[in-house]
Amino acid sequence: EIVMKKLEEYVRSIPDFPEKGIIFRDVTSVIQDADGLHLAIDGLQNILDGVDFDVVVGPESRGFIFGVPVAYNMHKAFVPVRKKGKLPCETVSQEYALEYGTATIEMHKDSIRPGQKVVIIDDLIATGGTTEAIIKLVEQLGGKIVKIAFLMELEGLKGRDKLAGYSMDSVIKYP
Ligand code: 5GP
Repeated sequence: EIVMKKLEEYVRSIPDFPEKGIIFRDVTSVIQDADGLHLAIDGLQNILDGVDFDVVVGPESRGFIFGVPVAYNMHKAFVPVRKKGKLPCETVSQEYALEYGTATIEMHKDSIRPGQKVVIIDDLIATGGTTEAIIKLVEQLGGKIVKIAFLMELEGLKGRDKLAGYSMDSVIKYP
C-alpha cells in the first residue's frame, strides 16, 4: 500500500537558526520533492477557492517561489515586492521593524492599478510585520486586498492579530 506523505512531513525544522531559540521552518525540503511542491501549491490554491482577484503579490524571495505558480495556474498576474534598491522604475517604499533594526521593501508604482483585487502570498507568517508593510504598499497604490495566504503560520507570534480586518489563512499552523 502506498501512502502519500502529508505536506507537514516535507517541512524540515531547524533548531537555533538563524539564532539560538528560533526553530526555522525550512521550505527547501518541501519544494525539492515533486509531491511536496504539488501539495504546497495545491494547499495555497485551496485557500483561494472561490476568491475573485486580479493579482498575486509576493515578497522576495520565498513569496516568489509560491506566488508565481499559483498566479500562473489561476491565470492571474504576479507582482513582486523587493528589498530596497532592486526595482528599476519608480517605486513606493515602506519601512518596517525587524527584531534588530529596520528593513525597507518596495513595489513599482505602476504594478497595481487602483481598484484591482489583490491576494498576498508568502511562505510563512511570524510576527506579521512583513505582511503589514506589504498591505500598506498595496493600499497606497489603490489595490484592494481580498485574501492573504501563507503556507505556514507560527500562531504563537500572533501575526494574525496584526491583520485584523483582512481575510487570511494558512495551510499549516504551528502552535
Ligand atoms: P514576520 O514579518 O511575519 O515576522 O516574518 C515573516 C517573514 O520572515 C516571511 O517573509 C518569512 O519568509 C520569513 N521567516 C521568518 N521565520 C521563518 C521561518 O521559520 N521559516 C521560513 N521559511 N521563513 C521565515
